[in-house]
Amino acid sequence: MSGYQTRQNAIAAVTNYKPTTKPLNFAETSPADIFGSNVFSDKVMKRMLPKDVYKSLMKTKTTGEEMDSSIAGPIAAAMKEWALSKGATHYTHVFYPLTGLTAEKHDGFLTPDGEGGAIAEFDANLLIQGEPDASSFPSGGLRATFEARGYTAWDVTNPAYILENPNGTFLCIPTAFISWKGHALDKKTPLLRANQAVNKVARRFLGIFGNDNGEMVVSNAGPEQEYFLLDRNFYFARPDLMVCGRTLFGAKPSKGQELDDHYFGAIPRRVLAYMLEVERELYKLGVPVKTRHNEVAPGQFELAPLYEQSNLATDHNQMVMTILKSVAKRYGMACLLHEKPFAGINGSGKHLNYSLSTPSQGSLYSPGDTPHENMQFLAVTAATIRAVEKYGKLLRAVVASAGNDHRLGANEAPPAIISIFLGEQLTDIFAQIEKGNLKNSKHKAKLRVGVDTLPALPSDAGDRNRTSPFAFTGNRFEFRAVGSNQSIAGSQVALNTMMAESLDFVCDEIEKITQGDKKKLNDACQKVIQGIMKKHGYIVFNGDGYSDEWQKEAKKRGLPNLRTAADSLPIISDKDVVKMFEKYEVLSKDELESRTEIYHEQYNQAIVTESLLVVRIAKTIILPSAIRYQGELASTAASLKAAGIEPRISLLEEITNKLRDLQKNTVDLEKLMDKDDFKSVEAEAAYLTTKILPAMLDVREVADSLEGVVADDLWPLPSYQEMLFIK
Ligand code: ADP
Ligand code: MG
Repeated sequence: MSGYQTRQNAIAAVTNYKPTTKPLNFAETSPADIFGSNVFSDKVMKRMLPKDVYKSLMKTKTTGEEMDSSIAGPIAAAMKEWALSKGATHYTHVFYPLTGLTAEKHDGFLTPDGEGGAIAEFDANLLIQGEPDASSFPSGGLRATFEARGYTAWDVTNPAYILENPNGTFLCIPTAFISWKGHALDKKTPLLRANQAVNKVARRFLGIFGNDNGEMVVSNAGPEQEYFLLDRNFYFARPDLMVCGRTLFGAKPSKGQELDDHYFGAIPRRVLAYMLEVERELYKLGVPVKTRHNEVAPGQFELAPLYEQSNLATDHNQMVMTILKSVAKRYGMACLLHEKPFAGINGSGKHLNYSLSTPSQGSLYSPGDTPHENMQFLAVTAATIRAVEKYGKLLRAVVASAGNDHRLGANEAPPAIISIFLGEQLTDIFAQIEKGNLKNSKHKAKLRVGVDTLPALPSDAGDRNRTSPFAFTGNRFEFRAVGSNQSIAGSQVALNTMMAESLDFVCDEIEKITQGDKKKLNDACQKVIQGIMKKHGYIVFNGDGYSDEWQKEAKKRGLPNLRTAADSLPIISDKDVVKMFEKYEVLSKDELESRTEIYHEQYNQAIVTESLLVVRIAKTIILPSAIRYQGELASTAASLKAAGIEPRISLLEEITNKLRDLQKNTVDLEKLMDKDDFKSVEAEAAYLTTKILPAMLDVREVADSLEGVVADDLWPLPSYQEMLFIK
């Protein structure tokens, strides 16, 4: 099928679009009724469980205390009853292997009763533990294939839920995935451990300020999810999109995002219909979806839920990604979560809004009206500055992937240099402390709008900075380097453990000075913060992170600039990083080394697949169509000549030259791809980054220039222009 035909199909799909299912009617069923309707929530459990069981479970959930195992029986019974009432026939332990995907294995409730009938069976044992055949999930040498055992263990802190299919429903139980020796094989286990670690230290910290009232300190996450939508006709006509999630070829469109006219624009009808259904599905699962809008690039959108405790937010973000993709199909579209589906067009990220909080104090990052008097806030912020300076390379490493490499450091996403944006007010306060002269907070002014009928707006004390990878945004930090496709678990594991380490340091230093004397607390804090700012304060940067000057300035400051995944991934097994994770019992050396290996393998696999596809598409799709066009031109020239007209053959020559280049560059790439004697996954990653990726680009460059000259009806691949704009 030519690209031309695909375009006709896509246009027909857009113009003939009709809702595939019965239109949603939120007036008939309000979002409030739908919200959480498929969740085995606290509310449902309160209704269904014996009082003491419910109380015991809540205690575990709110204080982090070990669960009394005797409550699993009654919970399993209630869960089964609830699931059956929702039409579930199967249950599954859902887990999050290191592929970053969501995994599930379904088991039927029905068991033969020995008398020719069957009964639904589900008990404490089946709830607490599962044993999927784990041999095909990556373990990075933690588990030899012959010891394929991997266990899923019920995560009591997150609720079970029901997923629907037109032909039935099934019960999903969130679980951690561990090897038979107790090694973490997943994303959830270290997150739960890191939450535990930061809770313990943060409570020690609050205790110093007289604010530990027995409540748990939880970490929160509000992940803003970006994604692209395009018509499915285009998607299926692009093997690169189908296999790799991004276009490996494609000339820049004559109109891209230069005018910024898509950003926050009116949402196209089919897209909005899709969003409404996505949101409805997510409401049912109790995901508190809040905002939706067009993003910067044409065809790009964003969805953000309200923040939640990190473990729940992480499971919910996995659901968001799954549902964004699956609902798109119902609307004849494909949802792309790749970090850079289209070269030269903004990529997709996931801004992770991060905070620590307690139920009664709220965010520990809330400065209040007079932040200079809020020592606890200043100390926790200083601890964050120290953590990000000390472990900045780790923050870079946990977001490293083949996809995210195209984004970080391009002029659209935070650079690979990790720095902190504090804003004017806080920068000023920390400068006062550094000088040993803390006096006041610059104040919020009223914004003068200049139109009497408009209300006066309170202005924020600090402006936003959209170019910083780690920005203070009023009551939280926003980590903006996460890739759209990535689990948010890794970033939070790093952040929570870094914060545990740094808060511990701050506590030690304060106590050294106060020696238990509360009257000395204020001075001690200022001294400790002063020390931190002197040593680590150079990580603060409030300017334009996208500029070339920052690259130079950061180098002068000695900040690391790990441009690629190959540069960053080895950091995960760095001595200091291992020491920190082991101290807080979040990840052991073995676990970290296995992760480093797995992430390298994933990176390598991604690039190898891409390079194979570049060769294949160049040879079997692009070359033949260009040759066809060359043939047309040649025969036209011959006919003209026969008719006695001197043909102009400059175009024929141009095509012929480009074809020669395309063939040569493809052969060059293939030769480079022959190498397979790598000593380590790291060596292979370095080779792929420095040799294969540039050679792939060489092939692409010629192919893209051919796209500008070959006749449109012969060009086989849908163009950027049509993929981005036909909606
Ligand atoms: P913006 O695009 O301006 O950053 P959004 O509303 O798109 O804002 O997203 C902000 C995200 O930050 C939301 O998920 C919101 O719930 C979350 N958030 C707000 N306060 C906190 C907090 N204290 N801790 C963590 N996340 C928060
Ligand atoms: Mg944001």
